[in-house]
Amino acid sequence: MPPETLADPFLSLRLKMVESQIAARGVKDLRVLNALAEVPRHEFVPEVYRIQAYEDHPLPIGQEQTISQPFIVALMIAALQISSADNVLEVGTGSGYQTAILAKLANHVYSVERHGELANSARLLLDRLGHRNVTVDTGDGSQGLLEHAPYDVVVVSAAAQQIPKALVDELKDGGRMVIPIGPAGVQQLQLIHKTRGRVNVQTLDNCRFVPLISG
Ligand code: SAH
Repeated sequence: MPPETLADPFLSLRLKMVESQIAARGVKDLRVLNALAEVPRHEFVPEVYRIQAYEDHPLPIGQEQTISQPFIVALMIAALQISSADNVLEVGTGSGYQTAILAKLANHVYSVERHGELANSARLLLDRLGHRNVTVDTGDGSQGLLEHAPYDVVVVSAAAQQIPKALVDELKDGGRMVIPIGPAGVQQLQLIHKTRGRVNVQTLDNCRFVPLISG
């Protein structure tokens, strides 16, 4: 174990989070559990919320946005069955927490965030934590990111009214996407598989995300 891990005062809280909030609720994928055990979530929240970083709920990150509940992040990522060869498009970088987890599992993560300030701080933090396979752009991710398309995996961390066509178009054949769909407060987390140009949609769970804002 590297010395900085031994010195991490949040390590035991983090391991407890993985066991009691994630594994106990049915996420069994070891790669996902290990990634959650490694990423220092307390670094991704404002200083005043650090003490709550490993609790079972979302937290404010400024700009009226939130870092997602750890279980929802685990559920979304486990459903996507990400391999180390996959290129991922993430819409809604926010704090960069989920980006860091994706980066541990995938080949490269292209993340898009519409708030310039959030994008900048996530980029700096991900760099400081040593993630070299991540690119954070400022912009409207609901229109996708054509530059690096097609993607094996698309993860959307903000709720849309319907599945954006541009994101389906940028998904590879055999690709997977997770996206919350529905109005504020009552959304469903949907898992989409694209096979030979056709999409299959499955509902994973109910959820509550901030809205995906287009334009
Ligand atoms: N997974 C993130 C959650 C961030 S909240 C985390 O763990 O921190 C969702 C984010 O989506 C917000 O930061 C919001 O600004 C961003 N967002 C909303 N609409 C967007 C759009 N069209 N393109 C890119 N980002 C968007």
